[in-house]
Amino acid sequence: RRPDPFTLVIFGAAGDLAHRKLFPALYNLMVDGWLPPDFRIVGIARRAYNNAEFRQEVATSVQSFSRRPPDLAVLNRLTGGLSYITADFKDPAAYEALKTLLTDPEGGFPPNYLFYLATPPQAYRVIAAAIGEAGLNRSPDPHGWVRIIVEKPFGHDLESALSLNHDLHQVFEEPQIYRIDHYLGKETVQNILVFRFANGIFEPLWNRQYIDHVQITVAESLGVEGRGSYYDQAGALRDMVQNHMLQLLSLIAMEPPVAFEADAVRDEKVKVLRSIRPFSTRDITQFTVRAQYETGSIDGEVVPGYLDEPDIASDSRTETYVALRLLIDNWRWAGVPFYLRTGKRLAKRATEIAIQFKRAPRQFFRQTETSELEPNQLTIKIQPDEGISLRFGAKVPGPAIRVRTVNMEFLYGTSFAGSPPEAYERLLLDAMVGDSTLFTRKDEVEEAWTLVTSILHGWERARGPLATYESGSWGPREADELIARDGFQWRRP
Ligand code: NAP
Repeated sequence: RRPDPFTLVIFGAAGDLAHRKLFPALYNLMVDGWLPPDFRIVGIARRAYNNAEFRQEVATSVQSFSRRPPDLAVLNRLTGGLSYITADFKDPAAYEALKTLLTDPEGGFPPNYLFYLATPPQAYRVIAAAIGEAGLNRSPDPHGWVRIIVEKPFGHDLESALSLNHDLHQVFEEPQIYRIDHYLGKETVQNILVFRFANGIFEPLWNRQYIDHVQITVAESLGVEGRGSYYDQAGALRDMVQNHMLQLLSLIAMEPPVAFEADAVRDEKVKVLRSIRPFSTRDITQFTVRAQYETGSIDGEVVPGYLDEPDIASDSRTETYVALRLLIDNWRWAGVPFYLRTGKRLAKRATEIAIQFKRAPRQFFRQTETSELEPNQLTIKIQPDEGISLRFGAKVPGPAIRVRTVNMEFLYGTSFAGSPPEAYERLLLDAMVGDSTLFTRKDEVEEAWTLVTSILHGWERARGPLATYESGSWGPREADELIARDGFQWRRP
């Protein structure tokens, strides 16, 4: 479905996200014919630009960051519809200027408004309240719509997330609010639902009778990369687990929705979050590991330890690695452990979900000398090398019956031509057409923060030692011990 004519207002339009992701995504949507002809963009930020300078900046960003070589005719059409307002978000005059611009009868700004908060998180509530004060939370057209996209991080803990939801709801109804988690825009993440619910063969196995355990890994080889002051306040649990990893977990563990509709899908996802067994004080020490990277080498290059990174307090206890063991107390998953791990400066960049099945009840085949026969494992590779692989035992050619582990692989790159759309393309388009399936609902965010905040409080109370790991490794020894206690080991992506 193509969106109605609309006006996109980007708060923070001079920032990194807008330039690296949003404008290139808009350009690609325009190339693919998804944008209506009468579509306008207004950018607002502190930096002083006139319209011509802003258009030039946007053109340069699209040329640098678009997944396609730019077509100048399309680029000119995109930048031709841009306006810019120089303002501080705290200044009420900014919103009056915006309202004057949007409602100018000569201006041609369609009265459906999509606001995008690409700003520091402290600005979200200020901007939402000011939009309300200016009356821009309702369209001047009785048939028009107003929506708001809110970036991550959505809160710092449960209390701040509740408070942000409360403040947003003073101005917007829940269906107007689109909380973005860009992981949900990734093709491979959406494919989890297709894989599970469009195929007949996997779903009957997708439960405690056949699945032994699940491992979800989000590994980065990068360090804090100039985001030290933000990261040191956040840490891996808030930065990765609260949003992306619990979203992946919900999609893997949810029940089939009654329909592929926003609320039906999100109803099932939130039930998973609600079923995660809360951590007791003892569980915190037994089933969570937090650690910080030390110096080491990545791709042959020596990299500094976390405490030597710029903008990091020399006595920081912020975790750059987390491993968790979660249990989902419902009928499908009772007794099946879900292991989550994420870290910076690990051996390689890899996001994947490994579903390990139970072994055949009896083994009467011999293995080769070189490889142990491993249990069946289905691995959904989210990034890079997007695809799905299934591990099983096969007969080694020869007169004797001997079995070795092999992999059956599906790779996006070989099955589908062309570069897949970026996550922000899909999510922007969904917000434009009013489909919030891939956005996080209020109760989902709050459930995720309930779990994460309980772990944060547990860590504060425990004040136990922070583990360390060498940059370029697969994480701390304590994480290997966590999973080994159940008789398993982490997969090496
Ligand atoms: P950024 O580069 O610092 O950009 C922030 C923008 O907000 C700039 O345009 C800045 O304007 C503007 N701004 C900040 N305070 C302002 C004020 N008081 N009045 C007017 N303008 C103000 O940040 P970013 O990296 O784009 O991130 C934006 C949001 O997206 C953050 O919440 C971040 O967590 C989230 N996010 C970013 C990425 C990414 O890849 N960058 C990825 C995921 C999520 P001036 O530059 O003109 O001062």
